[in-house]
Formats: sequence, C-alpha cells, structure tokens
Amino acid sequence: MKTGIFGGTFDPPHIGHILLAQKAKQQCKLDRIILLPSAVPPHKKSHLSGFHRLELARITAEEYGFELCDWEYKKKSPSYTIETISYMKTLYPGDQLYFIIGGDSMLDFEKWYRWEELITMCSFIVGIRKQSELDAVNAAAADKRRRFGADITVLDIIPVDISSTEIRETGDLSEVPPRVREYIIKNKLY
Ligand code: ATP
Repeated sequence: MKTGIFGGTFDPPHIGHILLAQKAKQQCKLDRIILLPSAVPPHKKSHLSGFHRLELARITAEEYGFELCDWEYKKKSPSYTIETISYMKTLYPGDQLYFIIGGDSMLDFEKWYRWEELITMCSFIVGIRKQSELDAVNAAAADKRRRFGADITVLDIIPVDISSTEIRETGDLSEVPPRVREYIIKNKLY
C-alpha cells in the first residue's frame, strides 16, 4: 500500500494543508493519507493544547477522507522526523511510505536531524507554498536525487500562501474548513 504521512502542528488545519494532502494523494496515486499531529513542547504557549489540536485534526481527517495517527499526541513529546518514520515503518510494515512536506520544509531540510539518512528512508512529496519558491525547491530536490538517490516528487500545484500562524494572529477563519471553524468558534480557541 502507498501511504502518505502528513505531519504538522495543525494549529489550526487550513486549506493549504488540505490542498497539499489531496494533490499528493492524487498525483502520487497514494492509497491513503495519515495525518500525524506533532507534539508541541509545553513551553510554546502560543499553541493550542494537544487535545484541541488532535480534535481539529480528527475533524479534518473525517471531512476529507484521511486517517489520523495519535502516536505523537499520546507520547506528549516531539520526535525527530527520522524517529517518526522509523516508527511508522513498524506500524505499517510492507507499505511504501511517502512523507509529505511544504516547500519551506524542503528548503530547510538540511537543518533536520540526520537528514542525510532520513532522505533515503522513505519517499518525499513536496508542495510549494509560494510560486517564488518553485525554482529553489526543484533545485533542492534535484540535488538530493543526484547525491543520495532520493525519491522526491515536487507536486504540480497552485500554491496557497497561508499559514496557521497568520490564522492565529488575525483570527480570520475564512481559510479554515467549515467544521474546523465551527469547533474553533464553539470552543473559543483563538
Ligand atoms: P505555523 O504557521 O504554525 O508554522 P503551518 O501553517 O506552517 O503552521 P504546519 O502544521 O506547521 O502548518 O505544517 C505542516 C506541514 O504542512 C509543513 O510541512 C508545512 O510546510 C506544510 N504546509 C503548511 N501550510 C502549507 C501551505 N499553505 N501550502 C503547502 N504546504 C503547507
């Protein structure tokens, strides 16, 4: 089975996340997408509690036909992606794993813990967040394919330049899926 793993803080989930996951599924012919809300260190007060973030991810998964993995939430401490992928391999043995990331994450990739190993551990799918990122993202992907034999797909996508930070800061919920918006309003989250 071709399984897409989509990790994030999802604080809150927004249409940029959904578009990225849907395009990844469609263009790479994935069988399923698993949302993996990451733990946030307790000192990061700007973030919602794990409980509400998990609920927001659960609603998003229900609405858009994704699956949800609460492993990091239950663990309560953040993991390096290399640990997450190692664990996912034990959880979904025999699956071909695709880690889904935004263009900003691809451009930052060389700062990730043990990235040279990580890049060969699974396939990667990248969606740009801004058109201006495209050339740099393609160059970073090409470089890693050449040097490490990495399997990286850069999606053909019309970028949606939106971030959870912007939503938290402005309180504008127009780029948030309707059921997520209802939950946020009902629980007075932001
Ligand atoms: P924050 O603003 O709180 O940092 P975020 O909007 O970047 O949040 P995350 O939950 O941290 O969202 O992102 C999870 C993953 O989704 C990351 O790999 C990120 O690059 C990607 N992503 C987030 N927003 C978009 C977007 N608008 N388009 C494409 N990818 C995105």
